[in-house]
Amino acid sequence: MSDIKFEQRKSIEQVEESTELAPKFDQDGLIPVVTTDFNSGEVLMQGYMNEEAFKKTISFGEAIYYSRSRKTLWHKGKTSGLVQKIKEIRIDDDQDSVWLRVDVHGGASCHVGYRSCFYRSVPFGQSGSSVVLRFEEKEKVFDPKKVYGDAPNPTKL
Ligand SMILES: [Zn+2]
Repeated sequence: MSDIKFEQRKSIEQVEESTELAPKFDQDGLIPVVTTDFNSGEVLMQGYMNEEAFKKTISFGEAIYYSRSRKTLWHKGKTSGLVQKIKEIRIDDDQDSVWLRVDVHGGASCHVGYRSCFYRSVPFGQSGSSVVLRFEEKEKVFDPKKVYGDAPNPTKL
């Protein structure tokens, strides 16, 4: 078990200028996490951690998130093998946002099968009313049906 301890938030100086880790979790007990590829810098995904997930990520060295759709801890890649190995963890100025820099085993971070969850771009600055997304990744890294079988898709409508 992890015995990581977070500090109480005592002052702005402590939060911004000290070496104490005093993360702020929101009213749902969550902190947002941005995850990038350590080598390319590409944004892979955005998720959330609760206190337990953050502590386990720190002690274990692999990304463990909190799944809001499943309401449970989510050890990324445990099912698919596409584990995110932590290379660096950063916390922002007011300690209410986390940046994970990771190496991804298998090269994909998205359950749809793409390298990044942000595999589509939204065109902007054009006239007309309909927005047509553009696929920026042309091929999937893996076939989700083969990896997950009949497991429920975490995407909620
Ligand atoms: Zn995804």
